[in-house]
Amino acid sequence: MAIDAVAARTNIVLMIVDDLGWQDTALGLHELRPPFQGSYRTPHLLRLAEEGLVFTDAHASAPVCTPSRVSLITGQSPARHGVTYWVRDADRDTSAGHPHLRPPAWNVNGLQPGAVTLPALLAEVGYRTIHVGKAHWGAVGTPGADPMALGFEVNVAGHGLGAPGSYLGVDGFGNLREDGPSPWSVPGLEPWHGEQVWLTDVLAQRADGELRAAHAAGEPFFLYLAPYAVHTPITANPELVEHYADLPPVEAAYASMIEGVDNMLGRVLATLDELDLAGETLFVFTSDNGGLSAHGRAGEPHVHNAPLRSGKGSAYEGGTRVPLVVRWPGHVEPGRRTTQTAVLHDLFPTLLTAARAEIPAEHLAQMDGVDLTATCIDADRDPQPRTILWHQPHFWGVNGPGIEPYSALRVGDEKLIWFHDGGRLELYDVAADPGESNELCATRPERVAALVAVLVERLRAVDAGLSIDKATGEAVPFPAVDDER
Ligand code: CA
Repeated sequence: MAIDAVAARTNIVLMIVDDLGWQDTALGLHELRPPFQGSYRTPHLLRLAEEGLVFTDAHASAPVCTPSRVSLITGQSPARHGVTYWVRDADRDTSAGHPHLRPPAWNVNGLQPGAVTLPALLAEVGYRTIHVGKAHWGAVGTPGADPMALGFEVNVAGHGLGAPGSYLGVDGFGNLREDGPSPWSVPGLEPWHGEQVWLTDVLAQRADGELRAAHAAGEPFFLYLAPYAVHTPITANPELVEHYADLPPVEAAYASMIEGVDNMLGRVLATLDELDLAGETLFVFTSDNGGLSAHGRAGEPHVHNAPLRSGKGSAYEGGTRVPLVVRWPGHVEPGRRTTQTAVLHDLFPTLLTAARAEIPAEHLAQMDGVDLTATCIDADRDPQPRTILWHQPHFWGVNGPGIEPYSALRVGDEKLIWFHDGGRLELYDVAADPGESNELCATRPERVAALVAVLVERLRAVDAGLSIDKATGEAVPFPAVDDER
């Protein structure tokens, strides 16, 4: 390919924060806000929103890390790619024991080399593909633990685990523990071990350097920027926590982690400005699942994503609804908002369209993501009805609303949840009732029947593994709607 053709390609920065709830920033997405939202400081995200398009109904592909991240870079729903839960070590099932159910066979090793991935397709058309931060696609001890086996040409600090041993340089990010490095120790940042630095800042510095190197080489770049924050261990950023003296200590720490993420965003935006690249760079900001609320937070559990119900790990909106902002100067009108329903695996075709990269026909036939380009570039386009399938036949081990093995289907404004234990069905109008407080099965039986039919058809089409009933050893039966309703 000629240099000129390559240089004309749109750069892409995809910033995916870990466990950042829908409104865990200063960017309001609903008239009701979470309890501590008024304290959050994210001026750079507010700037990005003013310069871009804000989705108010965007969702993670799953309510936990690995399946959502695998979906993002493959364009496939978890039910299809089979990485339905988070990975840890080779051949280890991380599902917790459930009283009545056990998980089906699933891809416990996560994403592996040979898979069609977003970075690999971008690399093929000349992009420098840069991974910075949390990977967590393939399990420790498998080839897929290394982002460079999945299509990235540069890997900074990514491996098979999804939380840092420590956010602090003085701890070597987990490598300098007195009892020896833990498996959770962040790899590859040795020059900062023992220094008074914050992990997110170091990752921002490394991302900055990689952007400058790509620019100096005259190559278009795909920067996958994935801070480990704001995942546990919730830790006070020593330089920022004083901004939150009015919050309970753990919430002050959490707020300081959010501000650190925003500082990372600010640094990358400033670098793009300085290099005069902002105008030719598509920038996406999002999160991989809903905010943690089941434990480890101040106050009542399960309310930290209010008005959404529950949080990370849950079938309810608190588990999946995430912030999504797209800035693309010259293509996306600044300051817009859209109620278009979207899901992270939509970014796969969307970003490939922006890059003018082809999706192999075989993969296209196995893809669940929908191209959002028209929504992004056409300000007059009405939101289109969207069907999304979630499938998580696993138990986290934490009790809370919707935190149990389930499948769910979003069609238009409605969402049907099928809890595998006992076959319970719930129906909500999540456009009018994002808090899922008004259950509609009794009043809309015909809609339940219609959505169950689609749910079953979709799960069967990808041969999705269903929860196994421990008592019978058989897969749980699909919901029946005829006689009981
Ligand atoms: Ca996560």
